[in-house]
Amino acid sequence: MKTCLVVDDSKVIRKVARHILETLEFTVSEAGDGQEALDSCRVSAPDVVLLDWNMPVMSGIEFLRALGQEEFETRPKVIFCTTENGIAHIRAAIDAGADEYVMKPFDRETLESKFQLVGVA
Ligand SMILES: [Mg+2]
Repeated sequence: MKTCLVVDDSKVIRKVARHILETLEFTVSEAGDGQEALDSCRVSAPDVVLLDWNMPVMSGIEFLRALGQEEFETRPKVIFCTTENGIAHIRAAIDAGADEYVMKPFDRETLESKFQLVGVA
């Protein structure tokens, strides 16, 4: 099974994402901010990270930059989540190493197609 780390400060969004991803046959783990996510990746790197942008402690972009400094046998793919209002962040996120983005609120079809785009579905 493929593994996905869902990173979001909203427990509700993590729960929704987990539910969708489990129907797509992913093993899901969760982190509530970028630092937790980084710690988790250091212990065991997932195949893909679904990454929120605005979070306390360490934001999505800070996480991306920190992840870029880490050594991985296989670097996790990163899909970051944005909103209509946050679309200006896409360039910055891609420059920082994100592979794809998805608009919130996302549904199963959107997530599945994005995961296929980065080669993990
Ligand atoms: Mg957030």
